[in-house]
Formats: sequence, structure tokens, C-alpha cells
Amino acid sequence: MAELLKGAPVAGAITERLIARAGQLRSRGVVPTLAIVRVGERCDDLAYENAAIRRCDKIGIAVRRFRLEPDVDQDRLLEVLEEINQDKGIHGCLMFRPLPKHIDERIVCQALNASKDVDCMTDRSLAGVFTGKGPGFPPCTAQAVMEILEYYGVELEGRHATVIGRSLVIGKPVAMLLQAKNATVTMCHSKTRDIAGICRQADILVAAVGHAGTVTPEFTNPGQIIVDVGINSLPEGGLTGDVDFDAVEPMVKAITPVPAGVGSVTTAVLCKHLIEASERAAV
Ligand code: NAP
Repeated sequence: MAELLKGAPVAGAITERLIARAGQLRSRGVVPTLAIVRVGERCDDLAYENAAIRRCDKIGIAVRRFRLEPDVDQDRLLEVLEEINQDKGIHGCLMFRPLPKHIDERIVCQALNASKDVDCMTDRSLAGVFTGKGPGFPPCTAQAVMEILEYYGVELEGRHATVIGRSLVIGKPVAMLLQAKNATVTMCHSKTRDIAGICRQADILVAAVGHAGTVTPEFTNPGQIIVDVGINSLPEGGLTGDVDFDAVEPMVKAITPVPAGVGSVTTAVLCKHLIEASERAAV
């Protein structure tokens, strides 16, 4: 049976460390503060917002919510971001995406100051992930993958990591973060030939595809560690990842579950980025 790499202990350990750091900031008169910008009321956004607020409360991070109607004007949204940029009492901003279709998401995302970009929505932050320099932070989900691997003591240096998926939100940044830890990284996508054969060679396999059941036993080897980033709704209700968990779990060394895996670490990472941004601003 594979070791189950659950997210909760990882999030718990990050949270404990952040409580101490938030306390130190507050003792210096700095109240670490996160702005949350939400356009409309999508269920997924509301669920994540509530989870983020609960995590912030636990740590001692204040939250300022900017709630906008789904038909909000692009200029009004840009004004809100400018207000956040200018406000020295706000240290980071989470804005839910995708934005409604009448808004040019690219323009709006670039309007945020990179030093407050705690979930990598600007190109400047992304450039930081690729160059290893700059003020930005990696996307929270990509960083959550790294936090899980670190917490469970998975050695990366010199090992072969394969990432399935090449989005800017997960696949590409995870590949960069793994490479920064001296893993040898292979990226796979929808046009990859013999994907099962390539993945089978991996010591560490990260699945960020968005299709249930993509990773089957043919993708695995007995020493493999799998991080399943996928979140897919089941027709009968509930969620599943990109890995055919029941078939794959007995075949590998360790695997993250879905739910209760990567998804449960992302709000802790969001708070980690926020505390770091607050500390930088307080210097
Ligand atoms: P995305 O933008 O749709 O990208 C999916 C990637 O998977 C693409 O690069 C695509 O390749 C590749 N792909 C699609 N079908 C494939 C196949 N059959 N074989 C190999 N590669 C295939 O999705 P995303 O935003 O990166 O999200 C990926 C998954 O993570 C989704 O399930 C999403 O819900 C989940 N997610 C989880 C969290 C969390 O907290 N755990 C957070 C955000 C997202 P091409 O580039 O060739 O099209």
C-alpha cells in the first residue's frame, strides 16, 4: 500500500509557523492584511474565500473584502486594484479568476503591483518564477505541490520529475520550481507521444490535467511518488483527481489523495506568501 501524502499536516505545520511570524509583525505594529477581490458569486470562489478567511483568522491575518457585481465595469475593477496598490495597509491581493467575459483579464491582472501579487496573476511574478528573481510569488497551487514534497521529505535533487500539464497556473510553474530544486524535469501535455512510457520512468509524477482517470497503472513504477493536482467533479457528486486512485495506489510508493491532498494546502500557501509580503513591506 502506498504512503498517503495528506495535505492537512502540511497545512497545519505551515500555519503554526505563520502564527508566530504574524505575531511578530503585530508586535511591531504591522497588521498583515489580505485583500480579496471577488466579482460575482461563483460557488467555487465562495468556498475558497471562506476557507482562506478561516485560515487567515487562525494565523492573525486581517482580510479586506472587495465584492463586485458580475456586470462590474472594467474601469471600476481597475480602480479597485489601484486602491489596493496604493493602500500601505494592504500587503497582498487574491483576485478570483476567471473574470466575466466582458472584462479583459490580461489587462486587469497586470494592474496589480507585483509586490502584492500573492497568487502570481501578473507576468512580473511569473517572470520571477522562471528567473528565480524578483518580488513575485509562485501560484499558490504550484507552491503547494512543493510544500507537500518538502514536508514528506521527498528528495528532489538529481531525481526525475515528470509533470503532466503545461498551464501557466500549474504545469509550467511546478516544472520551474522542481528544476530550481535540482530535479531533472520532463513536461508532458495533450500531444505527448507514449505518455505512459515517459511517466513510467519518473521518480516523481505531478498530474495537473483536469481529466479524471488520466493516470493509470501503466504510468507508474513501484518507487514512484505521485502528486495529483487535478480536481474533477464526479457525475454522482464529490470530487476526484487526475489519477485513477483505486488502480494506481497499490502500485506506487506514495500518493496524494483527492480531496484532502494538494487542495488543502493552497490556503496555507496563500497565507505564507501574504506574511512574506508583509515582512518585506515592513523592512
Ligand atoms: P488547464 O489550463 O486546462 O491545463 C491542462 C493541461 O493538461 C494542458 O497543458 C493540457 O495539454 C494537458 N492535458 C489535457 N489533457 C491531457 C491528456 N489527455 N494527456 C496529457 N495532458 C493533457 O488546467 P489547469 O488550470 O492547469 O488545471 C489542471 C487541474 O488542476 C484541473 O483539474 C484543475 O481543476 C486543478 N486545479 C487544482 C487546484 C488545487 O488547489 N488542487 C487549483 C487549481 C486547479 P495542452 O497544453 O496540450 O492542451
